[in-house]
Amino acid sequence: MRAPFRKALLAWYEAVFRDLPWRQTSDFYRVWISEIMLQQTRVEAVIPYYLRFLERFPTVECLAAAPEQDVLAAWSGLGYYSRARNLHRAAQQVAEGGVPSTHPEIAALAGIGPYTSAAIASIVLGLPHAAVDGNVIRVVSRLTNDASEISSPAARRRFGEIAQGLLDAARPGDFNQAMMELGATVCKPGAPLCGQCPVVTFCAARGAGTERELPVKLKKAKTRDVLLQLMIFRRADEVYLVQRDAGESRLAGFWELPDKSLFPRLQGRLAAEFTHQIVNDRFRVSVWSSRGSPELPEGRWTAVADLGGIPLATISRKALKAVPDMAIFGSTR
Ligand code: SF4
Repeated sequence: MRAPFRKALLAWYEAVFRDLPWRQTSDFYRVWISEIMLQQTRVEAVIPYYLRFLERFPTVECLAAAPEQDVLAAWSGLGYYSRARNLHRAAQQVAEGGVPSTHPEIAALAGIGPYTSAAIASIVLGLPHAAVDGNVIRVVSRLTNDASEISSPAARRRFGEIAQGLLDAARPGDFNQAMMELGATVCKPGAPLCGQCPVVTFCAARGAGTERELPVKLKKAKTRDVLLQLMIFRRADEVYLVQRDAGESRLAGFWELPDKSLFPRLQGRLAAEFTHQIVNDRFRVSVWSSRGSPELPEGRWTAVADLGGIPLATISRKALKAVPDMAIFGSTR
């Protein structure tokens, strides 16, 4: 069954292949950047960041030598900033030790887990390692009609072994990408498009009519509402920003709008409201503006035109965009 399965999947992949910028290369650096950016982020959102990042840091040596603030600035808006910090650290590892040429060497780089190391090893080095992410687990659970709860270590191990057994060792990079593409575009969560599926004849869940019930997942933790009130202070074409302390791990070093609670007596004007979700936290953000100048906390005035060049927290970026008369902000990104 494996050989016909591989043949059907790869033929489909060749027909629907999306010519994404990182698929035009097998260069380690370029594939690696794309794999890190694609973690938790949609392809369409990644493309402009990927192109800009490579323009700014065309080689691993450039990235290794750059100040961390510049790397975070180039990453601003993509979220999950630990990825950028690890990427920077790993670039320094590569600049010192050379480009990895084995799977363990790739896996030893900062911020690279089993999925990413397998993806890079297969795409760049042609090594037969199955890259198993959430898309692939969903596909495998349906192909095998396996109702195991997918966060259990035993189930993840089993799905990983099945994916490894299915892998086409002659074309591991293409095969891994084909499985991910199938999961992302056809074998979708909730309602898979079985009528368009190239491997429908191999699918046990489809045969049993259980494809919509799989994979089985634990119930999600409840979403928590977090109220956030931000102040925009303006002076000509500048806004006032404060910087997160170095000790605050996730956004350490990032710039953001000051919190309104710092100015209890200030009468601001409510300029915009929006929500922003980060994992289980739903931020309900109110944006206030003021042209007054109360005593400001430590921070700096920054020209709106320069905002694209500094690491700016995503919620503050959204807040600035949400305020109609900050339209000039649109020109920075
Ligand atoms: S037949 Fe349907 S459920 Fe099975 S792999 Fe294809 S899209 Fe997924």
